[in-house]
Amino acid sequence: MTHPVVDALRAAIGRAAVLVDGDIDERFLLDVLGNRGEAPLAVVRPASTDEVSKTLAICNDLGVAVVPQGGRTGLVRATLPQRGEVVLAMERMNRIEHIDVDAGTAIVQAGVVLQALHDALEPHGLAFPLDLGGRGSCTIGGNISTNAGGNRVIRYGMARDQVLGLEAVLADGTVLDGLKPFIKNNTGIDLKHLFIGSEGVLGVVTRLALRLIPRPAAASVAFCGLSDFAAVRALLRHLRARLSGDLTAFEVLWKDYYTRYLTLHQGAVPMPDAHEFYVLVESSTGDDEASQARFEQALHDAIDEGIVADAVVAKSGVESNTLWTMRDMALEVGMTLGSHCGFDVSLRIADMDAFANELADAARKLHPDSRVLVYGHAGDGNLHVAFSRPPDMQQTFEDINAVVYGLVARLGGSTSAEHGIGMSRRAWLGHTRTPAEIEAMRAIKRTLDPRNTLNPDRIFARRD
Ligand SMILES: Cc1cc2nc3c(=O)[nH]c(=O)nc-3n(C[C@H](O)[C@H](O)[C@H](O)COP(=O)(O)OP(=O)(O)OC[C@H]3O[C@@H](n4cnc5c(N)ncnc54)[C@H](O)[C@@H]3O)c2cc1C
Repeated sequence: MTHPVVDALRAAIGRAAVLVDGDIDERFLLDVLGNRGEAPLAVVRPASTDEVSKTLAICNDLGVAVVPQGGRTGLVRATLPQRGEVVLAMERMNRIEHIDVDAGTAIVQAGVVLQALHDALEPHGLAFPLDLGGRGSCTIGGNISTNAGGNRVIRYGMARDQVLGLEAVLADGTVLDGLKPFIKNNTGIDLKHLFIGSEGVLGVVTRLALRLIPRPAAASVAFCGLSDFAAVRALLRHLRARLSGDLTAFEVLWKDYYTRYLTLHQGAVPMPDAHEFYVLVESSTGDDEASQARFEQALHDAIDEGIVADAVVAKSGVESNTLWTMRDMALEVGMTLGSHCGFDVSLRIADMDAFANELADAARKLHPDSRVLVYGHAGDGNLHVAFSRPPDMQQTFEDINAVVYGLVARLGGSTSAEHGIGMSRRAWLGHTRTPAEIEAMRAIKRTLDPRNTLNPDRIFARRD
């Protein structure tokens, strides 16, 4: 490949860091869902902030678009390269630079894999509370750029809440060094929030100062069967009251999800699919037996009060992991539907039952064999939906989008709770954000990236 941008990049950061043509591995073209992008002009693998800065400055000058990639586990097609783009793969910036045990903070490069950070903190008695099914591949930079939520938001908040400071590089190569590891820093406008959750359209996150927590010595996990959604809401209220701040997860599975999970499951079944709803609950506390006893007593009382119909409490870490598997296998469970589209919406908990019922009705009206699977972080007001499209269904995926997002808008929800907009949902951004809000977003984009170098066509629909 000879292209002025390739020559300039190689001259600036070396040949080995700039891959072209046959040296570009397939993985840079694919995402975790198996979607495929187009061949990029080049894949750049920087090893430092300086190399990110030089790469962006060159691409910006020459009018070449850049798509940052972390672990490519994002679910909204944002990392798939389009023709003529340069991929900026952050995988070599994977150093945990410093763990401050006294302060409970860490400085990490953006390409650190989430699981690697969890593992590195364990011997220090510390933890990074963000956790999600893609932990083995996703990167901290990707987590922060998507403001990932995950399994323990109910206790610790979103990725945004774990960031003390960050270093980011603007499209023209300017480095913004905001890597201060302070909890309190009201020194002017807090710029880090511009880069958290903005999906790489405003800058490339290169290094982060993260807030850590003391590693919870024990996690109690249980799986509950319930008869109706009123009981699900009652259980959430009950556990919040009884476990106070110790409730770390409240994941709800509608029956159809659990039934399909059982078709994939090997080994003993946690409980039969005789209930309408299933809730995976977790409480993380100190290591004493008293906290496990308190957890079990709270569940016992929930059974006595008629809230929970059946419950299985994990007796070991292995059993806890087995229970968590049914939630972590959401993508595989969705695949049992065949062709389908996925949604990730926020709703008031009070509206969730009606939402799921209306969607099931809508699916059957569109096609007798169309099904919806509903599950998610209900304790955070976040549901995921997999909506199937049988091969002979006349309506398109966009028609399904219109049904789901129409209902979300009517219920005052939000189009994306945690996965973001990317390229998949940009047509639906305006469904739950106002024109004034979108114009303010575009104004920030124009200011920080006037040549539209970073992740063009992501979040914002192209203007004709
Ligand atoms: C099994 C599974 C479970 C998941 N569960 C959850 C969940 O519970 N909660 C949740 O919120 N999400 C979940 N996700 C999706 C989630 O968005 C990603 O897993 C993760 O946060 C993205 O990290 P990544 O490194 O793979 O980013 P990528 O997919 O590589 O990138 C995502 C976006 O961030 C941009 N980006 C990446 N790195 C940088 C950087 N350094 N600077 C600027 N921009 C960058 C990309 O351009 C893209 O727009 C799940 C995904 C999978 C596969």
